[in-house]
Amino acid sequence: MEQRHKILILAELCEGGVHKVAYELIGKALELYPSGKSVVECLILGNGEPDVAELCRRGAETVYYMKDPAFEEPEEQLYKENICAFIREHEPEIVLIGATSLGRSLGPRIAAALRTGLTADCTQLQISTEEKTAGKLEQIRPAFSDNILAHIVTGTMPQMATVRYKEFPEAVSDKSREVNIKVIKPYRTEVSGCRITRVYRELQENIQDAQVIVAGGRGIRKKEDLALLKELADLLGGQVGVSRALVDAGLAGSSMQVGYSGNRVKPALYIACGISGAPQHLAGMKESDVVIAVNTDPSAPIFSICDYGYVGDLYQILPQMIEDVKAWKG
Ligand code: FAD
Repeated sequence: MEQRHKILILAELCEGGVHKVAYELIGKALELYPSGKSVVECLILGNGEPDVAELCRRGAETVYYMKDPAFEEPEEQLYKENICAFIREHEPEIVLIGATSLGRSLGPRIAAALRTGLTADCTQLQISTEEKTAGKLEQIRPAFSDNILAHIVTGTMPQMATVRYKEFPEAVSDKSREVNIKVIKPYRTEVSGCRITRVYRELQENIQDAQVIVAGGRGIRKKEDLALLKELADLLGGQVGVSRALVDAGLAGSSMQVGYSGNRVKPALYIACGISGAPQHLAGMKESDVVIAVNTDPSAPIFSICDYGYVGDLYQILPQMIEDVKAWKG
């Protein structure tokens, strides 16, 4: 019988269940090789009873659900140890991970432990037809501030890539597909030296699916002032995003970061407050339908890509916007 190629997708649980990037990865994995020549499997760690069967309805042949109370919160060392042990046992040729906050943290740890390569933040994947690399996974991603597309091939196994959310269409759900879920035991439930004792939940926004984003940059002076953005975002049914300047300054979590090394977003409305418009920020939001910019500096680059611009102090303009939206909503 002809050899089939085993592709493992690391799926992730988030508040709403399985993170949808896994459905996109399944779709992509199924089209990498000619029909029937790939075995797409998913590994997911967690506790409780999430709807992991949906991964099979989307096209995964088998879903391995590694279930244990130790996985209630994602502790990266413990996750890494278990995922590496699974990969060593199952020997997939390709491992695909969503470039979520957790995926970006886990991917390099797993690759380093397995002594293999990993390409981060891929935007395209294909099987190479070049003479020297034929049959290998060609991992494609923008480099040098989006000026070139790098085609990267890994010489070691497994070939690993993290892939940005919303790069590929989701695999279609088909209820007639066979559901094959294997609930498996963890390889270990403790790692030495590391234990989660308490979890603090900060302001955490799901900006990737938001239709309205009110984003703040270095023009925001202190953490408490994010409440101003939050009030406007709530009124518009949206979420709060930030530039990397605020993440680096410790004012916001990286899950809220928009840009090249953060989230790429495509909302209907993006309101950029106190953000200069550096290329790395624009890379994450330039596909928004409508952009409104608020900035004291009339020469700020953000004004060259926005649809509507306010030159002025965000601390005066945002409260006015909030009042206007309240009046408009009645
Ligand atoms: P600044 O550039 O300092 O701009 C602040 C703006 O606020 C100024 O234009 C100022 O006029 C305005 N302002 C100040 N006070 C007020 C006020 N009261 N009212 C109104 N306006 C005011 N950046 C990202 O955002 N996302 C990324 O993913 C990202 N990835 C990167 C990856 C790499 C490899 C590198 C090298 C950089 C990356 N950066 C990223 C950083 C990026 O280059 C910029 O440094 C960053 O975007 C600047 O953030 P900012 O616009 O908030 O700050």
